[in-house]
Amino acid sequence: MSSNSPVAGVPPESLLSRRGLLLVLSSPSGAGKTTIARNLLAADPLICSSISVTTRTQRPGEVDGKDYHFIDKPRFDAMVEAGELLEHALVFGNHYGTPKKPVDDWLAQGRDVLFDIDWQGAQQLEERMSNDLVRVFVLPPSMAELERRLRGRAQDTEAVVQGRMSKAADEMSHWIEYDYIIVNRDAKASTDQVKTILNAERQRRTRLTGMSDYIAALRGQMPKA
Ligand code: 5GP
Repeated sequence: MSSNSPVAGVPPESLLSRRGLLLVLSSPSGAGKTTIARNLLAADPLICSSISVTTRTQRPGEVDGKDYHFIDKPRFDAMVEAGELLEHALVFGNHYGTPKKPVDDWLAQGRDVLFDIDWQGAQQLEERMSNDLVRVFVLPPSMAELERRLRGRAQDTEAVVQGRMSKAADEMSHWIEYDYIIVNRDAKASTDQVKTILNAERQRRTRLTGMSDYIAALRGQMPKA
């Protein structure tokens, strides 16, 4: 009996290899996607988080290398020039981008990758890697609640909060470019919804790269007539 086959006659699990997927979470700022992302990462060992580079100033409580890689504009431009970013965009006057190398490495290992990026980034990933992409858009239950959450963060100035509120309508107009929409009334319920989406997408036939071998092994176990 192989170590992968604890039950005699059952094809080894290793035959069920799967291609990793790219899970994009986007929302207007303050709709709660960061909490959902954090919950998901804590609950699922197969998923890794893409850590973006940004030219934005570090907020209190943010950790360099964990929340973002905080870099200056010349370094950002050099990364763009060298083709080191999978996508990049200007959001609220700051530059953001996704480093390509870690994503390539994780996908090669069959890991799934989570992206907290805006609609511009989702569009660029759609152009480059549409087969691997699963896009989820998170909406707030109301604009009053969105404003309450933005103020609750107590990290941004009044002008920034107002700017983000006025941008929210623009951002929401991109809902149609996403595969799944979630209204985030409760972080736990929304996290469960994303987990359900992720579990279903993992079982998509096109991602089950080991399925031909698995079926061949099953057929090999048919009793001889
Ligand atoms: P914040 O400054 O509040 O952390 O993020 C502002 C917006 O930038 C959010 O909508 C976030 O999803 C988006 N964002 C963060 N990283 C990236 C990235 O690498 N690429 C793109 N396109 N957007 C990003």
